[in-house]
Amino acid sequence: MNRITLVPGDGIGPEVSSSVVKVLKAVDAEIIWDEINGGETAFNKTGKYIPDELLDSIATNRVAFKGPITTPVGKGFKSINVTLRQKYNTYANVRPVKSIPGVKSPFHNVDLVIIRENTEDLYAGLEHMITEGVAESIKVITEKASTRIAEFAFKYAVAKKRKKVTAVHKANIMKISDGLFLDCVRKVSLKYPEISYEEVIVDNMCMQLVMYPERYDVLVLPNLYGDIISDLAAGLVGGLGLVPGANIGDDIAIFEAVHGSAPDIAGKNLANPTACILSAAMMLDYLGNSNAANKIRQGVFKVIETGKNTTSDLGGSSSTSEMTEAICKAIEQSE
Ligand code: NAD
Repeated sequence: MNRITLVPGDGIGPEVSSSVVKVLKAVDAEIIWDEINGGETAFNKTGKYIPDELLDSIATNRVAFKGPITTPVGKGFKSINVTLRQKYNTYANVRPVKSIPGVKSPFHNVDLVIIRENTEDLYAGLEHMITEGVAESIKVITEKASTRIAEFAFKYAVAKKRKKVTAVHKANIMKISDGLFLDCVRKVSLKYPEISYEEVIVDNMCMQLVMYPERYDVLVLPNLYGDIISDLAAGLVGGLGLVPGANIGDDIAIFEAVHGSAPDIAGKNLANPTACILSAAMMLDYLGNSNAANKIRQGVFKVIETGKNTTSDLGGSSSTSEMTEAICKAIEQSE
């Protein structure tokens, strides 16, 4: 039995997290959930965005599943997501983006993995007004974090039998900060001659991805570019409802979808649970239970390919709970 912290989150978070709990039960994943919320919903109940018992639970269990958490735009509290990533030093944000048969999209051969640095860059939260009308935000890039994420990306490429790592940057303009990032990735790349290495400037990367996504394999990026390119890449394979993710540190990991709390569809039983369910499959891989993880993926892909019980973002008319039920059934029938 593994004891895992479950943070249902805000907006669609509780709906899609409940799908995760059901699917993990269907696959007999032997998990005991410590359910403790964080974020806006938690604040409204407890007066704290990150209750102490949530921090204690993650520190003890070392593995968490997190639903999306709302962060106010332009005001209010610092992102809980960023805070947790920095606090637990889950420095690598891993986001596999792969075409799924049955999903309508102009692209069918996308199979890339985004490795986003998760602890620094403009997300260090160092910003202030210098004087009225002038704001400053500090971009922090360190040799330590850049080398660490580069090592992670190349090790990942070797372990997953990938062929190429592409470093994405804007070192033509940010010569010192992105220049340092690039120097670090370049140095690490020399240790892995079996993996091809290339560098692409981030604006060009956006165009390359929407024209030739099949050319890319593993991408390694500083935090902000990784955040933006993740959503772009999600669009290539059918949208945010489909792309899973993991925040990995040396001995703590927090699994969550790429998408946010989707306030526009929250509470309506409309959200696609796939991204969260596939994130939970990544969690099972991490826990050494790839057998259950593969069963989950097969169940999800079968339901999507059959196309009868999918949510509206995939062109279907099923609710979150109906799609979840269909996935659970597909898993049970495969056993
Ligand atoms: P979002 O990802 O929540 O939504 C963007 C669009 O994608 C919306 O139209 C939404 O309906 C759709 N979408 C997202 N997930 C979906 C799903 N599972 N099924 C179907 N459609 C889905 O991004 P946003 O609107 O920019 O952000 C909303 C809130 O989420 C903000 O407060 C933001 O800070 C937060 N956020 C949190 C996380 C996180 O917790 N890791 C990540 C991103 C954004």
